[in-house]
Amino acid sequence: MTTDPRGGGPVPDRDWDRAVGLVSSADEVALACHISPDADALGSMLAVGMALRAGGKRVTASFGERRFRVPRLLCFLPGQDLLVEPGAYPASPELMMTFDVPIADRLGVLSGNADKARELIVVDHHASNTGFGTLNLVDPGAAATAVLAEDLLDRLGLPIDREIATCLYAGLVTDTGSFKHSSTTPEAHAMAARLLATGLNPEEIARELWDRSPFAYLKVLGAVLDRVVLEPAAGRGLVWTFVTRADRASYGLPYDEVEGIIDVVRRTDEADVAVVLKEDDDGAWQVSTRSKGEVDVARVCAALGGGGHAKAAGFTSHLPVEQTMARFRALL
Ligand code: AMP
Ligand code: MN
Ligand code: MN
Repeated sequence: MTTDPRGGGPVPDRDWDRAVGLVSSADEVALACHISPDADALGSMLAVGMALRAGGKRVTASFGERRFRVPRLLCFLPGQDLLVEPGAYPASPELMMTFDVPIADRLGVLSGNADKARELIVVDHHASNTGFGTLNLVDPGAAATAVLAEDLLDRLGLPIDREIATCLYAGLVTDTGSFKHSSTTPEAHAMAARLLATGLNPEEIARELWDRSPFAYLKVLGAVLDRVVLEPAAGRGLVWTFVTRADRASYGLPYDEVEGIIDVVRRTDEADVAVVLKEDDDGAWQVSTRSKGEVDVARVCAALGGGGHAKAAGFTSHLPVEQTMARFRALL
């Protein structure tokens, strides 16, 4: 395994052994991933859930959103019959495991359940992970949480079939940016090869994740790109725009369909930093930020109450767009 330049390093064998011991001796396991789940969070959780269930455990899985709904983009992931609404989640699980969750806050309404869990195994790859578990399997050098999930299943001796592999692959391919980011190591490709050997369909996964959207998306994208701004911001170049609830409402576009707009905006040559502010259905602004490397956006977002990775991070704002951007700019 690679050592991470930011410190942290791979998970020690004694922690893996403890995890194997805890999971092996449990009859029931409660799984959770971060709110607004992405493919790495939901995919890692469902992969481990399906494997544990096949191994004879009782499994529940969820994420802590009151308006519980799997994003349209991720509806193709197998294993969703494991999901329960947060209200039906064990109140004080014997063994709870979290996936891709850097801070307990990102468990949403399930953070209380985590507080009351007898054992809490945190499986994650964020450098900013606070170590809120009773056992933390955290490796910032791992390309995705899915990498750690696969390692755990191997150590548990649980087989990875085509459906489990589909979930892990979705996490790996998302977090490596389709094998474009610097996390694209020989190990990442070797894992992809192992998963592909189960017979999964990479073409279908890619189409579900990135290559389809309702027609309304194009109309909203047009409006949002029409108001994009490029400014010098500390000599680094900042490109940004925003998507309002009204933009979406006028074309009937659900919130999760706008997640991909940041990938269009961030391609701007003249900017090191890209920002897209997205107004959710509650009127809060979910802010996506990306950096080409000069700026550590995880630090900037952490200062604004959020988090993430050095080149991809986010935060939530309850201020108007201009005020949010003024605070962001001041931290660059
Ligand atoms: P996104 O822009 O939503 O794709 O998120 C990029 C990265 O930032 C991911 O690693 C997220 O986990 C993290 N992130 C996004 N929004 C927040 C938030 N409100 N609080 C903490 N981390 C966030
Ligand atoms: Mn994630
Ligand atoms: Mn991840």
